[in-house]
Amino acid sequence: MYTYLNFKDDAEYLAFKGVGVREIGKSVLGNPIYAFETGPEPDVIITGGIHARENISVYAAMMTVYKALRRGIDNIAVVPLLNPDGLLLVEKGAFFEGSEKLSALCDGDFSLWKANADAVDLNVNFNADFGKGVRNVFSPAAMNYVGPYPESEPETRAIRDYTLGLMPSLTLSFHASGREIYWYFGQSGALCERDRKVAELFADITGYTLVDGNMGSAGGYKDWCIRKLGISSLTLELGMGRHPLPDESFSLEWQRLLKVPETASSVGAAIREGNFDAGIIKK
Ligand SMILES: [Zn+2]
Repeated sequence: MYTYLNFKDDAEYLAFKGVGVREIGKSVLGNPIYAFETGPEPDVIITGGIHARENISVYAAMMTVYKALRRGIDNIAVVPLLNPDGLLLVEKGAFFEGSEKLSALCDGDFSLWKANADAVDLNVNFNADFGKGVRNVFSPAAMNYVGPYPESEPETRAIRDYTLGLMPSLTLSFHASGREIYWYFGQSGALCERDRKVAELFADITGYTLVDGNMGSAGGYKDWCIRKLGISSLTLELGMGRHPLPDESFSLEWQRLLKVPETASSVGAAIREGNFDAGIIKK
């Protein structure tokens, strides 16, 4: 699997290669959350690793930074690992003092764990129809617990504040699995049209299935970006099959995502400059 150590090695290498690395906050256990900025004014934020077990999304996000670097794309910011404590729980099991109570929530098997070290599912913790998701639960759990109140978790606040600071015109959230793209959270009129066109573009280049409707989602990062900021925001479900996904699926999946960095860069810039019409990027 793509481990926390792999992530740290790649992070060091990217910093050495001149990618801007910024610590945007810390996790519950004090692990840093990093953003990799390929230029001074990003139009796009790409996130991964908000759900602990979805380490394929961390790998894909890091590959995106490499690809952007190699192709001279300079308007993308990537936050590849929003939930470092969760990734460590999946890797190591109950590794810190006090984590026995987390063990009790998953019978000691963390391989399917999604939450952070507070047993809060970060992707239902945002302030957008908080607590109204169809799968929400209201006490600590391996997945789907919304937390005591909106944005109660330091990881949620880190990406919230980073996003407010950058005000990108596009966000992509990498998750797993299903090879699907989600884009809808109650938009109407021109915003709805624009966002569906953006989603169609990404469906075209990845071969993923476009999902219309929000499927009972609430409190997610994408949901919050759409509702509070009015920006185009997609969730991409990477890979196919049941968790944990086999390692060999990682590099194969990346082949489907090869055009994502360039497309994200052009769509982000076009929206920012008012040059995204009818799904066409005007130069
Ligand atoms: Zn997920």
